[in-house]
Amino acid sequence: MSKRPNDNFEIPKPKKQKLVDPQYVLPKALPSSPATLQERKKFIEHIVKVLTKVQPNLKTPKLKAIHIEYQIAKSSTNATYKTVLKQKIYKLSHPEKFKTFARKDDISKQLEILNSWVISIDKLKQYGYTMNIPEARTNENLTRLCNRCNTEFRLAQQLEKTVCNFHHGKLRKGPYRKRNYDCCGGEEHVSPTCATSDYHVYQLPTVEEKHALLKYQNTKDIFTKKSPYLVVGIDCEMGYTTKGFELLRITAVDFFSKKTILDVYVKPIGQVVDFNTRYSGISEITDEFIRFEESMNKLGEIMDSSTILIGHGLENDLHAMRLIHERIIDTSILYPKHKPSPTFKYSLKDLTFIYS
Ligand SMILES: [Zn+2]
Ligand SMILES: [Zn+2]
Repeated sequence: MSKRPNDNFEIPKPKKQKLVDPQYVLPKALPSSPATLQERKKFIEHIVKVLTKVQPNLKTPKLKAIHIEYQIAKSSTNATYKTVLKQKIYKLSHPEKFKTFARKDDISKQLEILNSWVISIDKLKQYGYTMNIPEARTNENLTRLCNRCNTEFRLAQQLEKTVCNFHHGKLRKGPYRKRNYDCCGGEEHVSPTCATSDYHVYQLPTVEEKHALLKYQNTKDIFTKKSPYLVVGIDCEMGYTTKGFELLRITAVDFFSKKTILDVYVKPIGQVVDFNTRYSGISEITDEFIRFEESMNKLGEIMDSSTILIGHGLENDLHAMRLIHERIIDTSILYPKHKPSPTFKYSLKDLTFIYS
């Protein structure tokens, strides 16, 4: 066997660089910075604190914090920088809430995590869920305030054509303490409206009035047959009728298989004034529409009182279905903007942006 010429050489191994934390934190330079150097430093220091607490074995928390901040800073504008960072810090400080499911995790493991996300009854109440059957109370006034343009109108004349000018979007906090509509960007109280309708619309403002029209029911009383589905994603569509804001459609998806397990159109009690088509996608009542009671029977086939319902801002859907249910995962409560506040919640779109 001949000796290869290279056998006598030892290839020098690259020196393994040992990472050491710097004494002070200094944000990485950016061509255009979404915040002042001071602000960026403060955030990094905050992340260092969180990292030291939740990952005590981490050798270089400062380096990691600088890296985390840099990743966010370079892809943020000054409008999104703080929000995204605060969310990141929240996520870092509560690792248990953000465990991602490994593919091979069995259902029981996933259920354990989902169970830890179920919102407490007190919190549900605080966020506008009804947890008790209310008293029925009717509003005897002959007029209502339009939900869209705030004009007072006579109920008896709701189906006579008029002009209702409004914004179809929601108000959002904008710069300089102003609030803007997310439909057209118009400023609150200043900009002209961007949508118009021939009719005024209203909603029943209290659970007592809702109960007087159509009774609330507790899933413990009506859904007594055991459901094969343990976790169900649910979404309802509503529209304006002469009886307020009513249920028009229920769709449900099995959380584990992602299959649609229910999709029913529901006949409202009142006459339809506005299908809210932009949001509901519904534009007419067809033969497919079933009675409310029938829709509840169908819902009772895919869920029972211990099924976890998962959705975003589910209180509106549950009010529309007149349901009282204790096992709820509401992503609008779970991922609060900065800190939990019942009056300001993220939309699903915002969440997908921040968590994707
Ligand atoms: Zn608008
Ligand atoms: Zn109006």
